[in-house]
Amino acid sequence: MAKKNYKKLEEQLTLKKKNIWEVWDDKTKKEAFSFAEGYKEFLNQAKTEREATRAGILIAKQNGFKNIAEVKNLKFGDKVYYAHRNRSLILATIGKEKISNGFRFIMSHIDSPHLDLKVTPLYEEENLAFFKTHYYGGIKKYQWPTIALALHGVVYLAGGKEMEINIGEDINDPVFMITDLLPHLDRPTGPGGEIRKREVQGEDLNLLIGSIPVNEKNVKEKVKLAVLEYLFNKYGIKEDDFASAELEAVPCEKARDLGFDRSLICAYGHDDSICSFAAIKALADSKNNEITKICVWIDREEIGSEGATGAQSIFIENFIANLLELSGEEGKIKNVYAAFSNAKAISADVCAGVDPDYKDVFDLRSAPRLGAGAVMEKYTGAGGKVHTSEASAKFVREIKDILNKNKNIIYQVSGNLGAKVDLGGGGTIAMFMANRDMDIVDMGVPLFNMHAPLEIASKADLYCAYLGYKAFFEN
Ligand code: MN
Ligand code: MN
Repeated sequence: MAKKNYKKLEEQLTLKKKNIWEVWDDKTKKEAFSFAEGYKEFLNQAKTEREATRAGILIAKQNGFKNIAEVKNLKFGDKVYYAHRNRSLILATIGKEKISNGFRFIMSHIDSPHLDLKVTPLYEEENLAFFKTHYYGGIKKYQWPTIALALHGVVYLAGGKEMEINIGEDINDPVFMITDLLPHLDRPTGPGGEIRKREVQGEDLNLLIGSIPVNEKNVKEKVKLAVLEYLFNKYGIKEDDFASAELEAVPCEKARDLGFDRSLICAYGHDDSICSFAAIKALADSKNNEITKICVWIDREEIGSEGATGAQSIFIENFIANLLELSGEEGKIKNVYAAFSNAKAISADVCAGVDPDYKDVFDLRSAPRLGAGAVMEKYTGAGGKVHTSEASAKFVREIKDILNKNKNIIYQVSGNLGAKVDLGGGGTIAMFMANRDMDIVDMGVPLFNMHAPLEIASKADLYCAYLGYKAFFEN
């Protein structure tokens, strides 16, 4: 009897991670690099939810999408967009199939961890003026002091006038900073040399914003008043107006290539701009229009998807009802939920890649790697699979079969954010769509430094996500 070829059998039967750079030809690598250029531009224009919505509308218009408010009816091939409260965005291309028979749906989020100004943020201490902040999303607080921060957002003045603010992005703009203690005064003290704990607390996240007082002896807080004078002269803002403002401190750094080979991008807000950009491009470039395709950019994922602009909001149902009516179907709730039940969906969000410096927290068998492709997460959550939906085995198979048709789409399947059981975890938007009886699976890009002021992603994984989303829309 001939000896069995186990080497061949091993190749046939076992799962191996691929390194994209070893699989792609030069042409595909070039495409991925050029795709990343567009993404970096987007990152620089879209550091906040409002800015992302605005940049998304621009992409929509450039690709022939019309504002749904200006459309009387919808037919096969029509492309529309809807911006919800300037903080969430939906794009749809109408298929041949009735919408109640389902659609393809990709949802990603456009909010990123940042520092919001408090409602009464301005104060003076030791002849310096500061803004108090309240962090938004899960951050490691020690990462935010001593980096240059920009201030983005809007203030609503008396009478409702909207004043947009964007300071710190232009190289000639001033920036703002949270201070930290010098190491010389932050070392072990006490008789036993015990280490004094000086962890950065939420109330320490105060932005230094000025130091020149007004020239007047009788004013109590002279530097604070000087800041107010500046803000009033420049924007018409009074101290009271901060309560009706959405002002976010974000890193002023631009997106940059990282590494000698420029294979990586470091930037603020990869989570989840990277999936958002890949998804909108995939929709705009996808060809098959048999079935209606929907791309949603959602707000408030980082704080649990609560609120009028988050994934739990009924504005999504309203939008589907609108699509139904404009395309000649009844917009009743039964049809809306029929459409959800018959839909196939991807929750496009980032996950963690195995960082060689912190390997111990990962389940190395199922954890994603940077440069090894888009990551399908069968489930997220924490502990005993709490706070997650889990994609059905059948649906995961279906998506894998779609992806496998294109040899350039490299992907990895993971779960639990790649973490060891009971070692942390996290949730995203998939469960909120799954609760609407939708077939949905997470698929996104692995990152290093997730939720840090600057995060790292691979250009190869970004392009795989784009190709994967496109394949999903086209099949
Ligand atoms: Mn995310
Ligand atoms: Mn996040």
